[in-house]
Amino acid sequence: MKVYPDDEHSSIIFVRKINKKSMDCQGIIERIYKEVKPFTAEGIIADYIPALAGVSRDNLGISVHDIKGEFYGVGQYQVPFSIQSISKVFSFTLAYEAIGEEVWQRLGKEPSGTSFNSLVQIEHEYGIPRNPFINAGALVVADIILSNYKYPWRQFLDFVRKVSNDSALNFDEEVAASEKETGHRNAALAHFMYSFGNIKNPVEDVLNFYFMQCALEMSAESLSRSFLYLANHGVLPHSGEEILTISQAKRLNALMLMSGLYNESGEFAYRVGLPAKSGVGGGIVAVYPRHYSVCIWAPAINEYGNSIAGIEALQRFTSYTQMSVF
Ligand code: GLN
Repeated sequence: MKVYPDDEHSSIIFVRKINKKSMDCQGIIERIYKEVKPFTAEGIIADYIPALAGVSRDNLGISVHDIKGEFYGVGQYQVPFSIQSISKVFSFTLAYEAIGEEVWQRLGKEPSGTSFNSLVQIEHEYGIPRNPFINAGALVVADIILSNYKYPWRQFLDFVRKVSNDSALNFDEEVAASEKETGHRNAALAHFMYSFGNIKNPVEDVLNFYFMQCALEMSAESLSRSFLYLANHGVLPHSGEEILTISQAKRLNALMLMSGLYNESGEFAYRVGLPAKSGVGGGIVAVYPRHYSVCIWAPAINEYGNSIAGIEALQRFTSYTQMSVF
């Protein structure tokens, strides 16, 4: 291994120098696109609703925004898709904005150790979901939003439009309706938590909000732009507006690192080294605080509900750019 004396701390340590100046981000994502394309043939397309089942596994889009305004894209980065559980980051942000640290009276901060829609932990832990990103947690977050916002759906949509700087994005109501038709597990979770007193609004209202948030349609480009507040200490780079405090942004990133990919979060942290959130629509958005946000969309997912080509792409991205939190 080659090491060089570090100028600033030359009396004490040797620091490995990394040459970031010559980085060609567009070239890197084009190379990654070619390398991971074969992985889009692996895994399954979420087929619990027709609107997801009909999406072609050939899609692969990569989008990178840095906080200084640079943008890079390749493949189907402009095609809207169902963001599904990625929406849990937006809804949690709204709940966190509304009641701050009080959210932890109703939610945990630990990895779940179970699948994203599991019921088992809820009974052992008296109706308190392990974290805001499993379905049970997102239902409690939806309940907090219903109790604290006058026009919850409208305000949720306005919020995502604001952070993505995209006033055209919308819910796909057909997806929301099929989610509702097939959402028996989510209904079971919500009723179960209601019985523990951790859902306070009518279960039907909480479920409707949750199904609607999952049915938001966004492109990889919109998603990577909309996560920039998490890469920029809680502030929107395009407007300067503070969405979260520095400490809240740090904490939300910590939560994503620990549980953003459900039961595969440890493996993802090991391979990629970034806080991230996935959805069964095949999207993954990852954040490198103080630098960039990156979104991959590749619809085929593994048994944990995470995009296979997406993880492959992000692993390569942090390796080739040598930029991750570790
Ligand atoms: N709508 C899906 C569900 O509730 C979202 C799950 C996901 O993206 N992991 O089951």
